[in-house]
Amino acid sequence: MENENVSKNFIEQIIEKDIEEGHCEAVKTRFPPEPNGYLHIGHAKSILLNYGLAQKYNGKFNLRFDDTNPTKEKTEFVDAITEDIKWLGADWEDRLFFASDYFDEMYEGAVKLIKKGKAYVSDLSAEEIREYRGTLTEPGKEDPYSSRSVEENLALFEDMKNGKFADGEKVLRARIDMASSNINMRDPVIYRVARMNHHRTGDKWCIYPMYDYAHPIEDAIEGITHSICTLEFEDHRPLYDWVLIELGYKEDAQGTPKQIEFAKLYLTNVVTGKRYIKRLVEEGIVDGWDDPRLVSIAALRRRGFTPESLKMFVDLCGIAKANSSVDYAMLEYCIREDLKLKKPRMMAVLDPVKVIIDNYPEDQVEYLDVVNNLENEELGTRKVPFSREIYIDREDFMEEPPKKYFRMFPGNEVRLMNAYFVTCNSFIKDENGNVTEIHCTYDPASKGGNSPDGRKVKGTIHWVSAAHAVKATVRLYENIVDEEKGVYNEDGSLNLNPNSLTVLENCMLEENLADVKAYDSFQFVRHGFFCVDVKDSKPEHLVFNRIVSLKSSFKLPTA
Ligand code: ATP
Ligand code: MG
Repeated sequence: MENENVSKNFIEQIIEKDIEEGHCEAVKTRFPPEPNGYLHIGHAKSILLNYGLAQKYNGKFNLRFDDTNPTKEKTEFVDAITEDIKWLGADWEDRLFFASDYFDEMYEGAVKLIKKGKAYVSDLSAEEIREYRGTLTEPGKEDPYSSRSVEENLALFEDMKNGKFADGEKVLRARIDMASSNINMRDPVIYRVARMNHHRTGDKWCIYPMYDYAHPIEDAIEGITHSICTLEFEDHRPLYDWVLIELGYKEDAQGTPKQIEFAKLYLTNVVTGKRYIKRLVEEGIVDGWDDPRLVSIAALRRRGFTPESLKMFVDLCGIAKANSSVDYAMLEYCIREDLKLKKPRMMAVLDPVKVIIDNYPEDQVEYLDVVNNLENEELGTRKVPFSREIYIDREDFMEEPPKKYFRMFPGNEVRLMNAYFVTCNSFIKDENGNVTEIHCTYDPASKGGNSPDGRKVKGTIHWVSAAHAVKATVRLYENIVDEEKGVYNEDGSLNLNPNSLTVLENCMLEENLADVKAYDSFQFVRHGFFCVDVKDSKPEHLVFNRIVSLKSSFKLPTA
């Protein structure tokens, strides 16, 4: 919700100043994913930030694939990323671009730099370049090839393009300042020879531009005004500006495109890095990039998170200039808040034990009226069948109850939610001591869950009519890493939580859940929010994922 009194974040302040001072007219932002994996919650933050700024300032938002490094890039990732951004609700309209669309202009730019004496071809190897570069405390050494003439550089660069050199044999370097205190400015490599088949340009190119050279040009061509990236690029900003100024895309560092850095979003004890998720996927520890235990956008969607809940989360996190880590409980808080009033509260028994109501007529079925959501009348009511044999959750019965246990035990009267008062009289156990059947009697006068004589019961338990129950599989999740031990072992491997997935095969759901479809979600009373799994659920065998339990360990900080 927009509130005038809420102070503006530092990016908004920069943008408003730029508009005021005439550095730009309309705001234009972009999200530039590298198609080398699936997007995660951190990317969602960047997407919603960029899209939100464009909306706020009546501007435009572009989607641009940063496909300058073709070895790792795949069309599969392009498709998945596109779908995720659409789902989040960030609309790039008809502005979908690829950095590779600009390879010609980037090449022309490099020729221009050579002609200006601002770039040269070097024969140094990658390792030699590293040696010559110096350190934070020592200046770099001049590249022995830096004195080549403009003509020689033009000819060599053209030969590079025409495939006359082997991979890595020559590079093009920007001529800036080998003594700069900023290592990024010590004649950075801007082109390399690499024979890589590109998913869009095929074999047209055997030279590829480096990120620091390519990115500002991509922004400039698209008319991006504010190029928002994460903190690790702060030291690259002078190079970003250098490229744009030398190529004439802007006059000075005040002009646009302008790079602005903000802190990455990290979740405490949660794996977000593509590198680690890739490993979990490849080692078969998780069921693909969209395994509901992951925090890729595809996984969050599959688990049952909504775009609204992610937006709320990102807004709560705020925009900062210092790295920090947010608790996963805050993400859970957001999805609970989002679903609380939107979803009907259904009855589902996850660990069933049968209850027989001995004094209830054998062939009788009553369809009871049940309010869908006590906090939101708009969701209306539904009919739920009640009959002589029902299931309750095993944890709702105890043979010998401890103090303060108000649920079902021999001799105790409880309320069956929305139905009747029942009193437990006896139970049957198998040879292993497991309760297999509980016998009760009901009070016909207590229909709807209240007794006419005003007598009270302390426990209310949910139930499902056995004859009408829909059998389903329900999956419960915990954090994929062991939170006690921390995310990584000393050798860099992950500390996995062996209990991150629990599969309950024999759950009994109320009849009204028979016709659900993928992504439908519900509250199951007392158990949490659940979503129909898109991959594994079939009409004849439903599979639900628990999105989140009802218990919260997170409190919204009060303003
Ligand atoms: P990772 O390191 O997780 O693989 P990346 O930075 O390599 O991510 P890119 O595809 O290069 O992924 O990133 C696209 C955009 O998303 C960039 O602008 C990047 O700054 C931003 N981004 C990446 N990770 C985060 C994060 N954790 N929080 C916020 N923004 C992020
Ligand atoms: Mg990257």
